[in-house]
Amino acid sequence: LSGVTETAIQGRILHVDLSAGKLWTEIPEQRQYRRFLGGRALALYFLLRELKPEADPLGPENIVVIAAGLLNGLPGPGIPKFSIASKSPITGGVGESEAGGFWGPALRFCGWDAVVIHGRAAKPVYLAIRDQEAYLESAEPTARMDTKQFQEQVRQQHQDARVLQIGLAGMNCVRFANVVNDLSFFNGRNGLGAVWGSKNLRAVVVQPSKRTLGGVDTTKVVEIAREASKKAQKNPLSSALHELGTAGGIAGANAGGVLPTRNWTTTVFEHAADISGERLRDQFLKKRHGCFACPIRCKGTVEITEGKWVVDPAFGGPEFESIAALGSLCGVGDMSAVCKANELCNRFGMDTISAGATIAFAMHCWEEGIITKDDVGYDLPFGTSEGLVQMVEDIAEKRRLGELLSEGSFRAAEKLGIRAQTLCRHARKQELPMHDARAKTGMALQYALSPRGADHWIAQHDPFFKDESSPGLTELAPLGINEPVDPKDLGPRKVQLFHQTQMLCSAYDTLGVCTLAAVARSAISLEEIRQMVEIAIGRKTSWYELLKCGERAVNMARVFNLRAGIGKEGDVLPEIFAANMRGGPGSGSGAIDTEKFRESVALFYRMSGWDENGVPAQAKLIELGISELTEIEASK
Ligand code: SF4
Repeated sequence: LSGVTETAIQGRILHVDLSAGKLWTEIPEQRQYRRFLGGRALALYFLLRELKPEADPLGPENIVVIAAGLLNGLPGPGIPKFSIASKSPITGGVGESEAGGFWGPALRFCGWDAVVIHGRAAKPVYLAIRDQEAYLESAEPTARMDTKQFQEQVRQQHQDARVLQIGLAGMNCVRFANVVNDLSFFNGRNGLGAVWGSKNLRAVVVQPSKRTLGGVDTTKVVEIAREASKKAQKNPLSSALHELGTAGGIAGANAGGVLPTRNWTTTVFEHAADISGERLRDQFLKKRHGCFACPIRCKGTVEITEGKWVVDPAFGGPEFESIAALGSLCGVGDMSAVCKANELCNRFGMDTISAGATIAFAMHCWEEGIITKDDVGYDLPFGTSEGLVQMVEDIAEKRRLGELLSEGSFRAAEKLGIRAQTLCRHARKQELPMHDARAKTGMALQYALSPRGADHWIAQHDPFFKDESSPGLTELAPLGINEPVDPKDLGPRKVQLFHQTQMLCSAYDTLGVCTLAAVARSAISLEEIRQMVEIAIGRKTSWYELLKCGERAVNMARVFNLRAGIGKEGDVLPEIFAANMRGGPGSGSGAIDTEKFRESVALFYRMSGWDENGVPAQAKLIELGISELTEIEASK
């Protein structure tokens, strides 16, 4: 495939061995691209091929795969996402996360589809890629800089480069450190930044000399982009995203009684109006921005120039998950403090969901007398803005209690004892995102069955399928989604819906499609995506092929976890959802029956072609064309 220019696929994979300081190019067979296309599926292919299941996530034997989404580089709407994968230091299983921005397209413009990083450097380094030339540079003098300082420094040498990096939290191997590009786009979850830090890898810097995929006829893509831009203005979901970002969901979640508050002790927050998307827009928003070629521009940039918390606009602004995790979950109703905590997470390179949830857990421990001022160094009850902001710094620097919390809430709770363990809200040791599974039961299936631990985007959310006129039914009908399903239903139809839409989301992650930009969440249609894929690969395709690729990736992730010793024991309902809700319209109801939930999981296994232990049948792996990659030694 080398030298192919009529498709988006570049036909080149860059390998880097940090231990030996060696770089080489792999030219994959065409069959690999046919099966794995890009993004998530391609990253999982390398993980299965290169990584020993018993590898220590923070040891040199772990690898880092960065794969451009198939559509990255086309000038189309909502297709900027690229994937990073490693063995996760949080879950011990597959670690994988997508980010938008400009970095994925820039990698493609340089002439690469993916980068695979092996080993560990003796001292901090960064990888520089200038078109097809790649080399390692010392990051020793800059290793302790914050993400903004580092980016500015690197750009002096590599003008206009796109900088994908970790911050101090990653260099310190904080277990939920993330990877950030352009200071405001994140491969957020699974502790991938800690893996980079353990390898002494500070950044991967790409500097393309051109801004197009030469040779690809993009006329049709430009047409689709123009149409999408018009549609995005008319579509109420897209325009709401543009106006408020995902932060627009805070007020509705609170009104519906599903806003996680004070470490999930209630789901109604009395200060919700103070941390709403509307408040953010009216008081703190400087401008809106977005990813490469996307007309929706859902990202907000926040600036605060005076008062207790000054916030630098270089780091973007908080979205729904960050506001809820750092705000209501910690009982903090001071929006400027939430913005500051968010800025610091971005400055140090930490996942805001895990950071907020871990601090909320510590605050709960404080309220219960499990930790005291002697442990923390200052007061840390629910609602303290000062404690929140200080603790973000303490975790990144591994100071005082911050050192224990830098391990994440699950491991901290193990050290703090049995009472603390009852306060930890997690799935596969990763902190829960800000969605209450009692009000949308598909989320319970997502949390339990996500191979990467608690995750809120491995399938589509239940409210999109509520009634006949819901966007899930109108827009996803071509996939055979025909009937509305009640968000609270947990019967066979909900399992079927989860099964169908997790393949769709897995396909989106493979193609580089943003789940916020595409249907059912927004305006980019299935047909437009299919047409862009045809242009990217230079041949016909169908959603049958694309969903199969999504399913392939789902099975590869499952097999990776089974090989790593993670089986059906992880496919369980987080305990908090077995109790009734407290607060709001659903108060006193909503508890999910654990036995019924187990039956739903068992049905999902059968639907997926997995045995009663959740192990993919050999016939399923053959059907998906991955049997040689995915031999499983023993049934878990
Ligand atoms: S919808 Fe938002 S996150 Fe998604 S591609 Fe567009 S700007 Fe980026």
